[in-house]
Amino acid sequence: MASVPGDAAQTVVVLGGGVGGVAAANRLRRRLDRRHRVVLMNRDPDFSFAASYLWVMSGQRSAKQVTRPLRSLERRGIEVVIADVEAIDPVTRTVTAGGKEITADHLVVSLGADYAADAIAGLGDHGETYATLSGAQRLAPRIKGMTSGRILVVTAAPLYRCPAAPYESALLIDAALRRSGVRASVDIALHAAEPAPMGVAGPNVSEAVVSILADRAIGYRPSHQITSVEDGRAEFADGEVEPFDLLVYMPPIRSPQVVAESPLGTTAGWVEVDRGTLATSFPGVYAIGDNTQIPLSIGKPLPRAGVFAHGQALVVADNIADVIKGRTTAARFDGHGGCFIETGFGKAGYGSGDFYAEPSPAVTVRRPSRRMHFGKVAFEQNVMRRWM
Ligand SMILES: Cc1cc2nc3c(=O)[nH]c(=O)nc-3n(C[C@H](O)[C@H](O)[C@H](O)COP(=O)(O)OP(=O)(O)OC[C@H]3O[C@@H](n4cnc5c(N)ncnc54)[C@H](O)[C@@H]3O)c2cc1C
Repeated sequence: MASVPGDAAQTVVVLGGGVGGVAAANRLRRRLDRRHRVVLMNRDPDFSFAASYLWVMSGQRSAKQVTRPLRSLERRGIEVVIADVEAIDPVTRTVTAGGKEITADHLVVSLGADYAADAIAGLGDHGETYATLSGAQRLAPRIKGMTSGRILVVTAAPLYRCPAAPYESALLIDAALRRSGVRASVDIALHAAEPAPMGVAGPNVSEAVVSILADRAIGYRPSHQITSVEDGRAEFADGEVEPFDLLVYMPPIRSPQVVAESPLGTTAGWVEVDRGTLATSFPGVYAIGDNTQIPLSIGKPLPRAGVFAHGQALVVADNIADVIKGRTTAARFDGHGGCFIETGFGKAGYGSGDFYAEPSPAVTVRRPSRRMHFGKVAFEQNVMRRWM
């Protein structure tokens, strides 16, 4: 049982081989001796680092550079199961995947978020997204080949993964077009469903991003919800129509179907957790990362960001290891985190702070610098070389 320590070998099952899942599995493997099994389950055979997709889009990375086979974790003693998780029973901690069942003593759910481009009619058919690796790969030659026209960048809902990404996408597209000398002939407009960039981080961060967009002559329209798309034209909730030659979007998200259909999916399909321990209401079951919904005092949830999935993974892994070793669990996720904001030309800003602060997150922003860009590159390299 999850709560009974002793000499018995235990099985920890981690669902999801993304940022949270891989970080949790690695940490568990380091903290537990080999008697105990660490099993990682993921649908795709590869891990790819989403924070680098924007560089794939802008031609600064190949898909290969940001992808690693999950099976490489096996050399460290992590059992990797490539299968679709079909059902989760959190009461018995039994998972059905690829038609087989496995029962865990401790279960970590890190299945991310599903994209819901289908929520906006025509979006997937007429637009491209950098939110998937294949989408970023398709965008790269289109941006490179653009010599004139209009690029419309949209966030298709106020809730999406990584609050910085759509703003970074517009800035990196701008930088790519400036590099190829065609920016004067290509108009870039960013229409966002949300009222301000990275609003959860507070007005200072929002204002800093708005000012960078203005400096780069990127037309910005907040609180402008896209409702449907046809060939070359996007319609918005206020009835306005925006023409485009290339539509680049951040899709809405929904909870992973298997989570929403399980008893874990209580908050519009997302998992409710203790915000410090990431424990669910089911003993021995934890949820981390994008598939959780952690309300903040400002009425918005903790952003879906890898930095939080990573921090939460370490807390959960440490506490599971302590339970198995019969020790008091002391690790707590404290809501601290930071996010790089790539602005192009080898520079990035950085917003960081305490997202659990009361009455509102206490986040400061650093102006774009080369140092911050190299900070993001260093983090990427650490993930690709040391996590996998
Ligand atoms: C373009 C982009 C840029 C980003 N940039 C940043 C950034 O700079 N900084 C930052 O902090 N965050 C960034 N993020 C957000 C970050 O990538 C996510 O918040 C993070 O990956 C969440 O980790 P996770 O483990 O919760 O989910 P994920 O990393 O998405 O992992 C979930 C895994 O579960 C698998 N899965 C889902 N359902 C099933 C199933 N039924 N069966 C089997 N497997 C399944 C998925 O295939 C996936 O491998 C970015 C995101 C995007 C899209």
